[in-house]
Amino acid sequence: MAKGQISVQTENIFPIIKKFLYSDHEIFLRELISNAVDATSKLRTLATLGEVKGEVGDTTISISIDKEAKTITISDKGIGMTEEEVMKYLNQVAFSSAEEFLSKYQNQAQIIGHFGLGFYSAFMVAAKVEVITKSFKENSEAVKWICDGNPEYELEDHDKESRGTDIVLHIAEDSTEFLEDSRIEGLLNKYCKFLPVDIQFGTKTESTFEGEGDDKTEIKTEIPNIINNTSPIWKKKPLELTDEDYKSFYNELYPYSTPPLFWIHLNIDYPFNLTGVLYFPKLGNNIEVQKNKIQLYSNQVYVTDEVKDIVPEFLTLLHGVIDSPDIPLNVSRSYLQADGNVKKITSYITKKVAEKFESIFKTDRAAFEEKWSETSIFVKYGMITDEKFAERAKDFVLLKDTDGKYFTIGEYKDLVSSNQKDKHDRVVCIYTSNVKDQYTYIQAAKNYGYNVLLFDTPIDNHFMQQLEYKGENLTFVRVDSDTVDNLVQKDEKKESVLTDKDQEAVKEVFTKSIGDLKGGHVELKALSPNDHPVVITKPEFMRRMKEMQMMQGMDMDAFPDSHNVVINTNNPIIANKLLTLDEAQQKETVDYLHQLALLNQNMLKGEDLANFVNKALEKIS
Ligand code: ADP
Repeated sequence: MAKGQISVQTENIFPIIKKFLYSDHEIFLRELISNAVDATSKLRTLATLGEVKGEVGDTTISISIDKEAKTITISDKGIGMTEEEVMKYLNQVAFSSAEEFLSKYQNQAQIIGHFGLGFYSAFMVAAKVEVITKSFKENSEAVKWICDGNPEYELEDHDKESRGTDIVLHIAEDSTEFLEDSRIEGLLNKYCKFLPVDIQFGTKTESTFEGEGDDKTEIKTEIPNIINNTSPIWKKKPLELTDEDYKSFYNELYPYSTPPLFWIHLNIDYPFNLTGVLYFPKLGNNIEVQKNKIQLYSNQVYVTDEVKDIVPEFLTLLHGVIDSPDIPLNVSRSYLQADGNVKKITSYITKKVAEKFESIFKTDRAAFEEKWSETSIFVKYGMITDEKFAERAKDFVLLKDTDGKYFTIGEYKDLVSSNQKDKHDRVVCIYTSNVKDQYTYIQAAKNYGYNVLLFDTPIDNHFMQQLEYKGENLTFVRVDSDTVDNLVQKDEKKESVLTDKDQEAVKEVFTKSIGDLKGGHVELKALSPNDHPVVITKPEFMRRMKEMQMMQGMDMDAFPDSHNVVINTNNPIIANKLLTLDEAQQKETVDYLHQLALLNQNMLKGEDLANFVNKALEKIS
């Protein structure tokens, strides 16, 4: 037996390892299994080069727990190490890289994936580590390396006969949770599910049947329990895969979820290496819970599902897998955002997603429209958050009108620009945010020959602002806003049947009985006699400000809920009746008309609504 001292700069590296990433001690298993996979892959490569004598044979990596001895053993049949290699790799390379890693990152809270700590992460959970290893090289002797968390180690001969390495972890008192089968099984499922070498944990029972009919007997056999799928679909060629393969993989990633809308298979090896499958999920109402579900892998080793800084903001709505050894995994997030490869990867993915939409749009417009209600969120979110995406998407983003027809921005401009323009020569898009609530207004606008768009999802407010801002020469006004009202006026320059003096009198009656409009005003308009006597409109700007504030969770009362009262002086009630009544009747009529108009706009609420209903009931009883 030989004893030695690991060459240390920082005497106290072990306590630091132990403390490091306290909540993430579990990654020791991933680090050690990754090493075992590397050793196995190296062996396979050497075998194809003819440098391995004899059969490669089975290369399953096995994980086992001995509860009595309080050990976890990770055994591989990879290249193994000679005595010199143990000295070199474990005592020097592994040690100094762990040391370097710690000195660099121990003060950084967020490190993607925590790759880099490597072999010495074993000491996060083990009080003593034994490495028993035999190299694939001819005539090499097995050795056993023992280290109990001091910079001292022991090295002795061992009688291990087969090629490969066993790492035996003597689990520390404070880490006994890792001696539970279920805990290890959970970790294997999380980190190792798609590793390229079979990983075995325990056994499982398999049933086969012998005989026929009544003689049929079930035979149960114990077989190794392989926990991983060594060739996940993102590593295969798209041509080899069916829709069913993609769907069942989705189900494997997110059990019990609704099937995805469609997907894109990513595969690139220059100027960086990246594979993956991204799915467009069916998004329910709660977008937040669906966000950030993409899993990041590095050579099939699970790293993290915190990919916020790696994929563009809008793609956080997508699901699936990205696998790239070129994403630096042991650096802080802020560094990552500035990383050249990450930037290239982001823009590559953005391009791919835009191309996917483009191709469906171009090859099958009907299918594109059919899926629009579900996919529009991705496109709109993308346009809002990503300039490059917006640039491409403006040619296929669709606007839907209240008749269920779809238009691209270009098509829509062609449709409405002849009679929906404002004084700045911008195309005015009239929209409704709620077909039921704004029914009367929609009908009125349609009667005047206007087209009304449907903008009724939470993202639409931002989206229309984006379109206005992006120099598309568009402006959006809600169908019940004062602006639409003016648009109507411009077209129909009707004369009022009332004299100027009578008009003044009508305005006076209204102003007196209606009271405070919180910034809104009373206004006279000469509309058609068939239009309502009183219409409520809302200042577009004020309403939008208020909506923005609500979305940001600010005080709703900061902007008052103001409205304008528009009086149609050509409606017979106003033109012929109002001024013939006595003062009390005038007030009653004006209040009633105002309340009806409010009711029509869904703005009569609470006590006012109750009083209104009671009064109406009194009238008929
Ligand atoms: P890294 O894997 O990043 O190189 P580690 O600290 O995890 O760093 O390991 C250091 C070295 O020890 C490896 O590069 C490898 O040469 C050797 N090693 C570790 N585990 C094994 C193993 N299971 N089989 C063979 N060699 C191993």
